[in-house]
Amino acid sequence: MLLLAASAAGSVSPAARLGARARAAAPAMRRLVRRAAATETSVSEGTSGPTDVKTILECKKDMSDIVSLCKRRGFVYPSSEIYSGFAGFFDYGPLGVELRNNIKRAWWEDMVQRRDDVVGLDSSIIASPRIWEASGHVAGFSDPMVDCKESKQRFRADQLFFAKVADGAGAHAGYVSLLEGADMEAAAAKAAGALLKKLKRDGPAQLSPLRDFTEADPSEYALVPSPATGEPGTLTAPRDFNLMFQTSVGAMTDGSSVAYLRPETAQGIFTNFKNVVSSTRVKVPFGIAQIGKAFRNEITPRNFIFRSREFEQMELEYFIKPTDVEEEWRAQHAAWVETRLAWHIGIGIDPALLSIEQHKPDKLAHYARACSDIMFKFPFGVSELEGCAHRGGYDLTQHASASGKSAEYTDEETKAKYVPHVIEPSVGVDRCFLAVLCSAYAEDVVNGEARTLLRFHPRVAPIKVGVFPLVKNNEQIMESARELHKRLQRRHNVAFDAAGNIGRRYRRMDEAGTPFCVTVDFQTLEDGTVTLRDRDSTAQRRVSPDELVAFVADACE
Ligand code: ATP
Repeated sequence: MLLLAASAAGSVSPAARLGARARAAAPAMRRLVRRAAATETSVSEGTSGPTDVKTILECKKDMSDIVSLCKRRGFVYPSSEIYSGFAGFFDYGPLGVELRNNIKRAWWEDMVQRRDDVVGLDSSIIASPRIWEASGHVAGFSDPMVDCKESKQRFRADQLFFAKVADGAGAHAGYVSLLEGADMEAAAAKAAGALLKKLKRDGPAQLSPLRDFTEADPSEYALVPSPATGEPGTLTAPRDFNLMFQTSVGAMTDGSSVAYLRPETAQGIFTNFKNVVSSTRVKVPFGIAQIGKAFRNEITPRNFIFRSREFEQMELEYFIKPTDVEEEWRAQHAAWVETRLAWHIGIGIDPALLSIEQHKPDKLAHYARACSDIMFKFPFGVSELEGCAHRGGYDLTQHASASGKSAEYTDEETKAKYVPHVIEPSVGVDRCFLAVLCSAYAEDVVNGEARTLLRFHPRVAPIKVGVFPLVKNNEQIMESARELHKRLQRRHNVAFDAAGNIGRRYRRMDEAGTPFCVTVDFQTLEDGTVTLRDRDSTAQRRVSPDELVAFVADACE
């Protein structure tokens, strides 16, 4: 994060500076200066900078705080709110759409435009259903689902955890259940204590290790309490539920018209592999990247935009020459995990909240050679932000045999023919948005006053600069501020704010996560310079408009 160095000169308020200059100024200027000094007193925020800086976890914010902050500030609204909402769907507001676009732009620039070995693609959302048969999604893209017959609620069986409870004497007392979340051991222990109390049995409660409902013995289905009612006997056995949304294409709505909204963007890349090879000059190793909407009829959309039914993915398929030398393919996979981790840190995600989880061999898909998830510590617990899988040659081979069209690549130099293997880093825009937002959230104290701010990296910040005329009633200042605003607007999303005192305007920008504010004041009329203020340090310094434009462009890179 770029910070402006606080300097003694930079921390003097323009009003005070104006006072010093006024002694040498012409009488008309002196009158203006006196008026400004009388109306404006809060430009400087002190020399010490913010204190008591706290991150989102230190502030103990939970998801409901994030949801309400997003709504209040125009980042994310629940979909169809005026019709009582529509679970699993969200609308992005004015700040949200900017943040989202900036995240996507950063990914596209870094993964496609600034690399010589990756090209882009935009495939259709609805495509031949044969794609999803070949990829295995029609038969196997499902989650285990369990219903509560009493409450009519539905849960993902692999997210419904339970444990056996025994009393202090070791006698069986029953079961407790809970949904996946943060600190489940503690929550289960609390529920077990409550169960013993209800049964008037002595503690301390003893718990078996937590298992998810897919691991339950059929004899236990009726014994585990429903998380909805707290009572046993209402949960069904788990059964598979396909996550693909169906639609029909054409005038007929019979079996032949069935099509699917894509549940991932990757298959469009595989089916276009040969097109890209024959229409461009790519040579293995190379990647094809795509950003686009994906749809999954999630059984339990949860945790706000973390798990929704309509979301956007940024996926890259990186095609490599197959090798059985384990060291080689592991190194290729590890290099991509490193690249992706560095990218997340580069756009402002807090490295202290990131970790890597390697899938154990028994949890890997049958065709996958390796898979590492980049995990983020969300307020509800540590969960997958991005998956990075080595998928072998599975996808291209599946499509080749289902379509009858070869997926072989010919090495121009050696004339060797092979079906490339692929490494797939895949991240959801919405999960990335949430991680960026959680990393940016902070509370601190400036001049004895509590402040809430979003410390977005300038590259992804929805608004890059707030332009303030110091006073509204001076046409020259207003004109000069408007001119600067227009100039910055050519390249960036910029805000113009002339309402209220400068301190309040700074706070509004801090809350929106705007990294820089510039104030056009009386000194601007004399020497053309403006006050540039940094959001995080609150340091101020004077810069010329040219310096400002170059500085902002550089900071947003
Ligand atoms: P999960 O296990 O959390 O359901 P997944 O392993 O099924 O995720 P992938 O199919 O690998 O996810 O999809 C790649 C990425 O797409 C995920 O890492 C995530 O960032 C994003 N993603 C997947 N499902 C959703 C969803 N329902 N809502 C938002 N983002 C999603």
